[in-house]
Amino acid sequence: MFADIIIDIQHEKLDKIFQYRIPERLEQELRPGMEVLVPFGKGNHPRKGYVTGIGETCDYDLSKVKEIVDISRDSVEIEGRLIALAAWMKEYYGGTMIQALKTVLPVRQKENARVKKRLRLLLDKETGKRQLDYYLEKNQKARARLMAALLDDPILEYELVTKKLNVSASVIRALEEQNVLAVEEKQVYRNPVKQTEKQSRDITFTGEQKHVTDSFRQDYTQGIRRTYLLHGVTGSGKTEVYMEMIRTVVEQGKQAIVLIPEIALTYQTVMRFCRCFGDRVSIMNSRLSPGERYDQLMRAKAGEVDVMIGPRSALFTPFPDLGLIVIDEEHEPTYKSEQTPRYHARETAVKRAQMENASVVLGSATPSLEAMYRARNGEYVLFEMKKRSRMQSLAHVETVDMRQELMNGNRSILSARLQELMEERLERKEQIMLFLNRRGYSGFISCRECGHVVKCPHCDVSLSVHRGGKMVCHYCGYTQPRVTECPECGSRHIGEFRAGTQQIEDIVKMRFPQARVLRMDMDTTRQKDSYEKILSAFANEEADILVGTQMIVKGHDFPGVTLVGVLAADMSLYTDDYRSGERTFQLLAQAAGRAGRGERPGEVVIQTYSPDHPVIQAAADQDYARFYEEEIRYRELMGYPPVENLLAVLAAGEDEALLEKGCRYLKEYALRVRGRTQAAVIGPASPGIDRIKDVYRRVLYIKAPEYDTLVRIKDRMEQYIEINSGFNRIRIQFDFNPMNIS
Ligand code: ADP
Ligand code: ZN
Ligand code: ZN
Repeated sequence: MFADIIIDIQHEKLDKIFQYRIPERLEQELRPGMEVLVPFGKGNHPRKGYVTGIGETCDYDLSKVKEIVDISRDSVEIEGRLIALAAWMKEYYGGTMIQALKTVLPVRQKENARVKKRLRLLLDKETGKRQLDYYLEKNQKARARLMAALLDDPILEYELVTKKLNVSASVIRALEEQNVLAVEEKQVYRNPVKQTEKQSRDITFTGEQKHVTDSFRQDYTQGIRRTYLLHGVTGSGKTEVYMEMIRTVVEQGKQAIVLIPEIALTYQTVMRFCRCFGDRVSIMNSRLSPGERYDQLMRAKAGEVDVMIGPRSALFTPFPDLGLIVIDEEHEPTYKSEQTPRYHARETAVKRAQMENASVVLGSATPSLEAMYRARNGEYVLFEMKKRSRMQSLAHVETVDMRQELMNGNRSILSARLQELMEERLERKEQIMLFLNRRGYSGFISCRECGHVVKCPHCDVSLSVHRGGKMVCHYCGYTQPRVTECPECGSRHIGEFRAGTQQIEDIVKMRFPQARVLRMDMDTTRQKDSYEKILSAFANEEADILVGTQMIVKGHDFPGVTLVGVLAADMSLYTDDYRSGERTFQLLAQAAGRAGRGERPGEVVIQTYSPDHPVIQAAADQDYARFYEEEIRYRELMGYPPVENLLAVLAAGEDEALLEKGCRYLKEYALRVRGRTQAAVIGPASPGIDRIKDVYRRVLYIKAPEYDTLVRIKDRMEQYIEINSGFNRIRIQFDFNPMNIS
């Protein structure tokens, strides 16, 4: 028998299958997915590798085929089905097979099992009773207590005996030696979820919720497997809908994976699922210890849980009979991996579901352009929920023109209107959230008087300021000198927009000395648990105002909040990225969704220098459909995803001249191999930061209507890089439909 093996070395040149002979003693045991030790290379150094297949034939000279040394006993095995998924990921996203295999294995190292000790009575009832009488006679109280308990229940937890019955370890040892009882060890899994009782829920679904859950159930019980996009406004009861869908799947003996962005994966969310599915729920997240993580994988494999909740990597939970994958907040950029293979959880979930006959549900109040585009094309089934589940109205949103504020002589970051509304809320003892939009900040230049933003004449993304007084397009490389006057209105009030949460906290405290203010950003959440602490303090109304970055707008439910202020809404509007409009709409809609979740209606103030920008207007009207129509037209016009596909080829190296030369060759090669396809090659450009720790970086973009065209070009480039020694000192990574083009 022979095994196909992928050697665990980070080297493109070794990214192929090697065959090894399976020694007879391992024939019964060896399975695809296991990690093994094999002799490798001229010196026959022992190397690790993964078995990807087993067969009876060998394609190589039999006299030269080496033999597997052993199975690595302390490594976790990859599920056979996940090997196929890894092969797809390698092909679809680039990189090596070993990188893909490691990605589908969320825990690699076996961890020691935690064991629980118990006592078992070895005597029959009669003998036991005689022994009890003997202990009582001798006044051996501890032994008598233990014997009496064992006669009631012949198996007792060790801990219970020492703690509750107050019997010492030496007494237990003595009885063990006399063969009165045995001490046994049983393996138990660590469980990071607090035990909760299942509770019956007494909610009546709204008409919209019922329509969605009924349609899903009908499809599912008829064996129809689809990808569904659930577009539901914030508070429309999407989570309740997911739970009902999971119930349908679990009733059929299948399991479900629920992906939630790590930042929204709070104790409250997990408890909602536990109240519904009891102890058949498990979680995966970065806060778990290695032992806990390993045990959750084992529990899932052993069929001890039905629902796995976690961030992106929980997608690879090895369930025996996967029935459903839910992706909540599917528009979140964290669903895209930043490491090779740079997979997107949405596409990978759809692929895994197809391989294992499961369905996928994507949920969001502001679906990604990708998901909505596919839903509109009929690739996904679209469900809409337009009403809030408890019939609260959506918040009232108004925009404030900050150019006007400047003209009125107000130079504060808080507009007069926002200050007025804050005053009102503080008097009424209602809560306020101030959200500073800082996502993707990259130093664009804008005019404080007319709102004009300096953009690339070729790409319609904003130019970024670089040191040395230049303005650069991070997409095509276009460069021009930094402007000191507004090209639109001639004003000298033009520059980078800078403000921090700390600064806003100070301004707020000065303006409203009576208010209790909390701040949440990277600085205040560095410590473990500080994130949850701030959130719960604010939820318990221990503060009046919460100031923060996008962290505070992610799906939290604060019924006391009736006012949300968005400061610098434009900050994310003009990042140098074609997704900036989409990001901004999502953030503003999410922020607006925070207001008025309780009994009282909410108000939202959006402060902007571009009140006429279609994205700002659509967000103010909370009109997703209008935003989508505008945005998809822009993507069509410019050929950006999801209408076309974009491949970023990231190149990095210590030698700048060599890197530039490599990129030029790569571009020429790409132009050559694109053949008659409609692929366009753009760049090389600087990816935002030119140099990190003395490593220079460049990026090349390839754009094509068909994804497969890009995959073929990627494959050819990988071969080209492999055979050209000029690329030995340049690292190349592929990023398909990247989240940040910088
Ligand atoms: P979403 O995920 O769409 O923001 P949730 O599922 O979190 O919405 O629902 C928001 C709140 O409304 C939760 O407290 C939830 O328990 C409650 N809720 C959802 N559906 C109903 C319903 N049909 N009746 C009453 N309350 C509901
Ligand atoms: Zn101007
Ligand atoms: Zn450009």
